Amino acid sequence: MRIGIIAIQGDVEEHVIALEQTLAERGEEGEVVKIKHRGIVSSCDAVVIPGGESTTIGRLMEREGIFSEIKEAAWEEKPILGTCAGMVLLAKEGDEEVAKTGQPLLGLMDIKVKRNAFGRQRESFEVLLKMSIFDEPFHAVFIRAPTITYAADSVDVLATLNGQIVAAKQRNILALSFHPELTEDRRIHHYFLDLGK
Ligand code: GLN
Repeated sequence: MRIGIIAIQGDVEEHVIALEQTLAERGEEGEVVKIKHRGIVSSCDAVVIPGGESTTIGRLMEREGIFSEIKEAAWEEKPILGTCAGMVLLAKEGDEEVAKTGQPLLGLMDIKVKRNAFGRQRESFEVLLKMSIFDEPFHAVFIRAPTITYAADSVDVLATLNGQIVAAKQRNILALSFHPELTEDRRIHHYFLDLGK
């Protein structure tokens, strides 16, 4: 299995390490590759869009021609994971901040997102998050995190925090407000790779 990480900006290395660990835990042959330009996505079986600055990542992905390649991969039902800024980019719609910057969105999930939804006081924090897909809570790290303010019926809500949606899935596409690559728990990465089965 070949897993691609969009490596334009953001916390790329952490995802590479987390996915290499996940492959090892599964005893699966595979490799994790960094995607900096067009022509690589189509050879990947799964793609991750990391956290960082969604404006920068979005603009550069579009300019490099990676946007259309990811849409194709999604239509081919390959698993796509967006964490934090990556979640913003997966959305069909953003808030005023997104509109103001005119940043392009992939529009692959029927969700509306709000950037920096927890405000300046709570820029980063960690919580034990109850997720519908696991029995035990997940140690979730939030960093200037967005939330999902609207999800269509076709979207599965996987977790909420203070009434706000922070994890959701639609078909083969997974969006998280937080950063599973920053902790040692690999359950979410396994769940993500299982979406391709
Ligand atoms: N607030 C950032 C954005 O919307 C995301 C922060 C992050 O990815 N940690 O671009």
